[in-house]
Amino acid sequence: GIAAVSALGFPAIVGAASKKVVIVGGGVGGATAAKYIRMADSSIDVTLIEPNEHYYTCFMSNEVLSGHRQMDSIKVGYEGLKGHGVNVVHDTVTDVDAAGKMVKTDGGQSFAYDRCIVAPGISFKDNIEGYDAAAMTAMPHAWKAGEQTVILRKQLEAMKDGGVVGIAAPPNPFRCPPGPYERACQIAMYLQEHKPKSKVVILDSKDKFSKFGLFQQAFAKHFPNHIEWVAAKDGGKVTRVDAASNTLYVGDTAHKVDVANVIPAQQAGAIAIKAGLTNDSGWCPIDGRTFESTMHKGVHVIGDASVASPLPKSGYAANSEGKTAAAAVVALLNGKEPGDPSLVNTCYSIIGPNDAISVAMVYDLVDGKLSKVKGSGGLTPKDSSPEMRAREVNYAYSWFENIKHD
Ligand code: FAD
Repeated sequence: GIAAVSALGFPAIVGAASKKVVIVGGGVGGATAAKYIRMADSSIDVTLIEPNEHYYTCFMSNEVLSGHRQMDSIKVGYEGLKGHGVNVVHDTVTDVDAAGKMVKTDGGQSFAYDRCIVAPGISFKDNIEGYDAAAMTAMPHAWKAGEQTVILRKQLEAMKDGGVVGIAAPPNPFRCPPGPYERACQIAMYLQEHKPKSKVVILDSKDKFSKFGLFQQAFAKHFPNHIEWVAAKDGGKVTRVDAASNTLYVGDTAHKVDVANVIPAQQAGAIAIKAGLTNDSGWCPIDGRTFESTMHKGVHVIGDASVASPLPKSGYAANSEGKTAAAAVVALLNGKEPGDPSLVNTCYSIIGPNDAISVAMVYDLVDGKLSKVKGSGGLTPKDSSPEMRAREVNYAYSWFENIKHD
């Protein structure tokens, strides 16, 4: 009798076992993970917590700055995820308790989980003296899209012809390595057409950057009078700002500008730091197979916040990592061994009229480490034809529509 009860009882217990996933952050990484978990196993209860009712993509936000597109085209809602049965909660997570398997919010809600996925993106370091909350409005970073993008666009529109736009580019590692340089090209396109006596000066914290040769070629070819790039070694590293006078300081050297776009050094989103998911680097170390944190079991970290190098901190990488973590979480919650991941990234930059470039790569796991698959990717050749460059613009727009949909 006893044996029969336990034999019957065991599957009942398995069937009733909770499979709850809580996702912190509904950006690219978090939203992708939520959708793909539900698609793979609809018996898993997925709650996604995100403060904003709409998400503005950073990708293509540089085209908002040039006036080539409007904010509405980079705006995404959460109805699609609700359609997949994701429980979307608009609130801010204040605590991830890995020992108690519990997430708490600013609004006073608590969510128990079996596995948690943390995808809060980035926060800013205070490497630039004087760049406080007020300075952030006066000298927008526009490195999180939305209100910041709108402020910077309005400043560009209000600027007089003959004005100087100063971009303070951040040190490595940071979100979207080609981003500041694509931005310079986009702003320069706007200036060339509408305020031709103006220029962009990039004050850089680095001596080299992503797609370096291709960008140098674009600056010289498209914008010889409209873009000036100053390497760190030549006095480019901004250390202090004065928002009242729109001045960027490199040590004691003052650069007074008309519009300042200050992009500070970066680290994982604040909640990842608070939850003890970061190491000394300020980013979250993970197991490359599952994206499970090496600091706290049961918590996975994806997107910009994670240390996924050699993958860059890009939206496409965050999308790929979201799918990888989703597959791993589904396997683990079903008592299976997670498989070997394969990830992909392409970053397009639109660098001039009918001119775009890209860098692409496939990644896999070698001896437990994320690695580039030799020969899988590549960079736009410097001498590629105008037809090819124009085609890359279309590829970029097509990529954008696809990832936004996903
Ligand atoms: P995010 O997309 O930033 O999402 C994080 C989310 O978490 C946010 O919605 C935030 O509100 C939420 N959150 C934060 N804290 C909490 C909390 N405590 N509780 C609840 N929610 C929280 N990538 C490309 O692949 N291609 C490009 O062409 C490209 N262009 C770019 C251009 C620019 C100008 C910039 C700045 C970036 C660009 N990127 C591009 C990079 C891309 O935007 C990021 O890599 C991507 O957004 C990372 O996704 P994520 O999910 O890690 O973070």
